[in-house]
Amino acid sequence: MEITTKPHAAILSSPGMGHIIPVIQLGKRLVDYHGFHVTIFIVASNESSDQSQLLQLHAYKNSLEMVEFPAIDIANLVEPNANVVTRLVVVMREAVPALRSAISAMKCPPSVLIVDLFGTEALCLAEEFKISKYVYVATNARFLSFSLHVPTLHELIKGEFADQKEPLKIPGCKPVRLEDVVGSILDRSSQQYYEYLRICKQLRLGDGILLNTWQDLEAQALASIQNVQVYPIGPLVRPVKPDGLKGEMLCWLDKQSTESVLYVSFGSGGTMSVKQITELAFGLEQSQQRFIWVLRKPVENNADASFFSAGKEHDDDPPSKYLPDGFLTRTKESGFIVPNWAPQIDILSHRSVGGFMTHCGWNSVMESIVNGVPMIAWPLYAEQMMNATLLTEELGVAVRSEVLPTKAVVGRVEIEKMVRMIMEDKQGKGIRERVRELQCGARKALSEGGSSSNALSQLAKYCSTYTSYGK
Ligand code: UDP
Repeated sequence: MEITTKPHAAILSSPGMGHIIPVIQLGKRLVDYHGFHVTIFIVASNESSDQSQLLQLHAYKNSLEMVEFPAIDIANLVEPNANVVTRLVVVMREAVPALRSAISAMKCPPSVLIVDLFGTEALCLAEEFKISKYVYVATNARFLSFSLHVPTLHELIKGEFADQKEPLKIPGCKPVRLEDVVGSILDRSSQQYYEYLRICKQLRLGDGILLNTWQDLEAQALASIQNVQVYPIGPLVRPVKPDGLKGEMLCWLDKQSTESVLYVSFGSGGTMSVKQITELAFGLEQSQQRFIWVLRKPVENNADASFFSAGKEHDDDPPSKYLPDGFLTRTKESGFIVPNWAPQIDILSHRSVGGFMTHCGWNSVMESIVNGVPMIAWPLYAEQMMNATLLTEELGVAVRSEVLPTKAVVGRVEIEKMVRMIMEDKQGKGIRERVRELQCGARKALSEGGSSSNALSQLAKYCSTYTSYGK
């Protein structure tokens, strides 16, 4: 076996497209720019969709291997109606022995273990194998700053966070409004509360934390993070594929004028009630704007119902069954409905797309900014409410409704107003200019000598010193 000097990174990803996608981009960057060999371990639960098929996972340049662990059945370990966070942490806990065995069996052991937010319990393996260890929090610095402060808030605040009178104060950062607080910590008697609290404490156990943001985007929030080394290495997003758009959708997009189409999608997991789908349909129609809408069948009172099953074909009801009567006929020319899953990054990069109605998942936000597309913020779950506030009030790249989509149905009149605002109003032009500035900032951060490039180089240098990879 020829021994090369390639450092070897093992990266652990939790289930869910929003977790796997940024992990793969990190792996590719370590391969392409820092000469690493990378092994990505992907955890799946028995309810997951076929993640590898959806993402067309395959080895990359022989230097990036994907290892998908056999699906873990957690049915006997969680309540039947357990929420996404509880299911995620349990499945990740159950994956630790498999990761230990996999690393032990490697002929060329890794020099570093990188885990994502839900994988912090695996950090102990890095200690066992005497390698360095990092956490990749594939979202923004504001959320990290808040999460690192949660253990202190847990001690300081008696009773529930939601019952406080004032926004939660975070040292060095803007306070977090109560309605923006992540759902996981709203009920102290729940399992997810203690799991999330544990994660917040374990974040500091690594040698550092990688973030999918960049220095100039979030200078204040980054400065607020103390006593842990942070590496803002973003924005890491999937590249556009030359053949990513095909057939009818490509023909339809090609026919539209520049920046005239609103892309409507709520991430890999977002779902809505029948009533909300109806209002959204009327709002889009009344706005008289063109749109592509990634539509999932309605689910009542569960905004992340598709999280584990993203992209799974649903063969039951056709969209006409839950859309208003005649909607598909009336919007035949102006609208394009995609059931379930669409090639998002390729759509956002098409010249016809001029706006994005998004659930504010951080990958979607980064993909929108990288493509210079202004947003309508429609947060649904997890840290998306904080993201929506960041986008509208600090970064100025989105508009949002008065009504919180997590609390009430957003009506058609308000939807029409937001769509027009972003697609045709003067205010929309200002937002478009602002997002273009950020687009330039993103490019700069990732270019040679840019802040994100430098941050990853620094990390790669530390991690290269342990072992070498044999081929
Ligand atoms: N995505 C996609 N097609 C879809 C829905 C989502 O390609 O129809 C991708 C999207 O481009 C992003 C990821 O899935 O990279 C979703 O991550 P995000 O953080 O935006 O949201 P999450 O799904 O984790 O809530």
